[in-house]
This record gives sequence, C-alpha cells and structure tokens, in this order.
Amino acid sequence: MSQLWSPAVRALTPYVPGEQPRERLVKLNTNENPYPPSPAVAQVLRDIDTEQLRRYPDPDSRALRETLAETHGVAPEQVFVGNGSDEVLAFAFQAFFCQPRPLLMPAISYSFYPVYCKLYDIAYRTVALDDRWEIALDAFDGDNGGVVFANPNAPTGHGHPRAEIARLLSRIQDSVVLVDEAYVDFGGESAVPLVADHPNLLVTGTLSKSRSLAGLRLGYAIGSRELIEGLERVKNSFNSYPVDMLASAVAIAALNDREHFKRCCQQVMDTREETRRSLVELGFEVLPSQTNFLFTRHPQFAGETLFAGLRERGILVRHFNRDGLSDFLRISIGTDEEMRELITALEAMI
Ligand code: PMP
Repeated sequence: MSQLWSPAVRALTPYVPGEQPRERLVKLNTNENPYPPSPAVAQVLRDIDTEQLRRYPDPDSRALRETLAETHGVAPEQVFVGNGSDEVLAFAFQAFFCQPRPLLMPAISYSFYPVYCKLYDIAYRTVALDDRWEIALDAFDGDNGGVVFANPNAPTGHGHPRAEIARLLSRIQDSVVLVDEAYVDFGGESAVPLVADHPNLLVTGTLSKSRSLAGLRLGYAIGSRELIEGLERVKNSFNSYPVDMLASAVAIAALNDREHFKRCCQQVMDTREETRRSLVELGFEVLPSQTNFLFTRHPQFAGETLFAGLRERGILVRHFNRDGLSDFLRISIGTDEEMRELITALEAMI
C-alpha cells in the first residue's frame, strides 16, 4: 500500500465485479443480456466514416441526449450521459451527496454505493430491508443528505411501483433522491415521469442490460435542469461530455430499434418465469423479480456449496459472502438453453 495515496484511497476496499472467465462457461453472474444488441448496431459500425475519428466528439453529446430525451419523454437538457451508469453515479455522488447530513441507502443494494461514499468521504446510513427483502421506503426519514437505491433493487430483484416512489418524494424534498433504474426494463415501473414535478429526483439508466450493450459503457441520468447542471459541473475534461463518437453512434442506433428492445426484454422475462418455476420445483425459495436475474436460496444447501457445485459443472452464478446474503445465489437470466443447463446441473446436485 502506498503512502502516496490519500487516506480515503488507502482505506478503500474496491468493488469486486463478477468474474469474466476466459474458459467457456455458462455465464450467469453479471446480469448481461444473453442476446446480441440490435442489428442496427452492426450496421452503424460497418458504415462508420473513420475519417471523422480524427475529430473530437460533440462536447454536448447533443444527438445522443436528444435520442435519450425522446425515448423517455423529457427535454435534452434533462439528460446527462456518461461511460456506463457507474460513471454517472460517481458524478452524482460527488455533485449531490457530499453533505453534512448522511446519505441514506438500503442495507442491501448495489454494492458500489458504499464504495463511492468511502472514496468521496460521504457519511452514510443504511436502512434495513423489510422481512420480505424489499426496500423499506417508509423508513427513509427526512433527516438526510440524500437518498440512493436501485429500483428494482439488486441483488434482490424487487421493484417498487411509481406511486411508492412518489410517496417518498412527497416526504423528501430538500435533498436529492437518486433512483438507479439499471434493471427497470424487465418489468419494473420507471420513476422518470415523476421528474417533471420533483426537481430533486434523479433517475439513472444504462444500455448495459436491456439494450445488450454492457461492453459499450453507456449510462445516463434524467432529472431537472438544475440537477443535470450540477452533474455537468463535476464532469471533467475540456468541459465536454465523456462519451466517445463511436459509443454515441452505436447507442443512438440501439435506442431507435424499439422492436428489438421489446422483443429481447420479453424473451428474458419469459425465460425468467420458466426458470422460477423450475427452481421452485427443486425446492428453492425464489424472491419475486422484476429484473433479468433471480435471487434464490435452498433450505437444505448452503449458497457456497451450490455456487461451487455449479462452477465445477461449468456454470457461473453470483454468490455474495456478506450481509446475511450468503445463503443466496443471484442467477442472471440467460438463453432458454443455458437455463436448461443450469436446472439440469442443480437437479444432479440436489
Ligand atoms: N446499477 C446497478 C444496480 C447495477 O447492478 C449495475 C451493474 N453492475 C450498474 C448500476 C452499473 O451498470 P453500468 O455501469 O454497466 O451502466
């Protein structure tokens, strides 16, 4: 450990993402989409005018922000874009949550949130989930320097209806409420329509999951002009948006292919429900999910044992060794064939 690092960096335990194996495994551990992105993406990449690459990209990312604005029914000035929603979240934490009062977050949610808090020296307080493993929104009180949670939540999978987010916003008006909608397209209800009446609501989204573009690193935030301006203040480099020309062109093509998007999301949701039925038949408890993953445990087998057994059989799922979650597996929804392989492997182990 270097003495040249700042104290916050020295004390930091970095977020450990799911393994990206080199061998061929059935990979159900990082909630990637099992289907390729829209064919329009390949077309854009084939047609790209490489001569244009000698130029810097549009500093305002105008075309991309316009497309996202149209997709979500807001104005382009209400859209911020970045390299994955992880980067957008980092900007948001810096812009809004460095406050005297603590940031509130669920005790179980995306594990990047506490990492950002430690990195940016943000005080935070966690709120326990309720006994159904759902975020206890009513327990988020007004005494806070901000609120952040994923909706639907990860790794549990439950999504709150918009009306419940609206109820939270009616109580919390003097700090930023950040709703991370990385998984909302798999059956959740977006809070974006609430942005019009709530200047303190910021919603983040990503093209990594429902648009099959995790490799592209494209995320965004939608909020009032006031919040977007706050994010713009902290973004760096020549006062320009951090999205490159290729990513921008690819993202626009993917966003405009709504048919492909809807079809893929529906397929993932159908496979999820089929997988749920099979897991229940094997004796698993499966939490309700509005995401592209299932959070599940078996009354007779430790999560670690199941994880290791699946790994031996060439199937990679996610197991968390923390927060009382160690009984559970988080299983991303793959193709029907991949899920059949998963169920066959579990049948052999149980
Ligand atoms: N939020 C949540 C809840 C996530 O699970 C993830 C993906 N790990 C992200 C945000 C970040 O996604 P990306 O940076 O790929 O947009």
